[in-house]
Amino acid sequence: MSKVLIIGAGGVGTVVAHKCAQNPDVFTSIVIASRTRSKCDAIARAIGSDRITTDTVDADSVEQLVELFNRHRPELVINVALPYQDLTIMEACLQCGVNYLDTANYEPKDEAHFEYSWQWAYKKRFEEAGLTAVLGCGFDPGVSGVFTAYAAKHHFSEMQYLDIVDCNGGDHGKAFATNFNPEINIREITQNGRFYQDGEWVTTGPLEIHKPLTYPNIGVRESYLLYHEELESLVKNYPSIRRARFWMTFGEAYLTHLRVIQDIGMARIDPIEYQGMQIVPLQFLKAVLPNPQELGENYTGETSIGCRIEGLDKEGRHLTYYIWNNCSHHASYLETGMQAVSYTTGVPAMIGAMMVLTGKWKRAGVWNVEEFDPDPFMEQLNKQGLPWNEQFNINLEV
Ligand code: NDP
Repeated sequence: MSKVLIIGAGGVGTVVAHKCAQNPDVFTSIVIASRTRSKCDAIARAIGSDRITTDTVDADSVEQLVELFNRHRPELVINVALPYQDLTIMEACLQCGVNYLDTANYEPKDEAHFEYSWQWAYKKRFEEAGLTAVLGCGFDPGVSGVFTAYAAKHHFSEMQYLDIVDCNGGDHGKAFATNFNPEINIREITQNGRFYQDGEWVTTGPLEIHKPLTYPNIGVRESYLLYHEELESLVKNYPSIRRARFWMTFGEAYLTHLRVIQDIGMARIDPIEYQGMQIVPLQFLKAVLPNPQELGENYTGETSIGCRIEGLDKEGRHLTYYIWNNCSHHASYLETGMQAVSYTTGVPAMIGAMMVLTGKWKRAGVWNVEEFDPDPFMEQLNKQGLPWNEQFNINLEV
């Protein structure tokens, strides 16, 4: 008997709930709780399983979380609310003896800054409590780390250059929309870029470095260097890496909209006074932008996310290696009602939960995904809707 509690009923939470319900041998009982209960009820109705119950919680409050956990007594919490809630949920897990998994690292609300130190600081307490916390188990972070661990285990004696490449080759037909929570998304891409080289972090201007890269089944797309959180844990866990970078594709129209949003102050995250009220411009913008959960129906095309790695193979010879998954927006929509960005995040979160609950990734402490055995996870990716491909000794373009 394994009871799982999903916190967050957005695009990703919807996919996680669908995929847990598809694996009843592991997830015998499912609870979805979020700030707005009607969204949880709608997900439960759409899935139609009598194993799903719903509840409500403000996950900013440890007290409310503790009450929720005591009411349901789950074995594991899948946190797919927002990164702001990571620490309160981890705290409540420790108080109630519950295992933890998330898909994005903690960010303070008043500062667009993310790093693992806040969550790594919980390592000793999780160890002492005999509980497992898995950090960053979506696609990127998540599968990007598992792909890297798989490459290290099976193909490389020394990984030297790592480039994570993330392409959305889809078209939702809107003038401007983000594919996941707009506030989190815009905070992420308007920051300075950063990459790792020869033991140092190099900072660039926002979206300053870019180049065309070719993606399987999609073609050539301009790809922009961003800072992404998994770089921090991957260079720590694989010290032979000399350079680690993250690239994401954006279209011209998207970037023009983003520039305007920034120029007119709508990307600001500090509160301003408006008609006697304090509002945060970026939060207001989120309220008027298309809801990412409603993009699915007319979304065409695919995402393609993978790792391009260069180094030495097990025999010490030069090796280039590309491992990736392509995911169709339309197929994701038909299966779960959500587009591929939510799908590619929610499926790995469910697989990570499955790894913990079946004992394959059960180890007391706080861990990034690459610290576990990648093989059972890679096997499930193929079974659960995210099949992967690999190529050896090709031109990586990076
Ligand atoms: P959404 O904004 O669609 O959903 C977030 C959900 O969390 C909503 O249901 C929201 O409730 C709920 N929520 C927010 N604040 C609270 C709170 N204080 N208490 C309880 N519930 C709360 O986001 P997504 O589904 O698109 O993304 C979910 C997470 O996945 C994010 O952390 C995002 O960063 C991460 N992500 C990770 C990726 C990866 O590859 N690793 C890729 C994409 C996303 P309400 O509806 O009431 O607002």
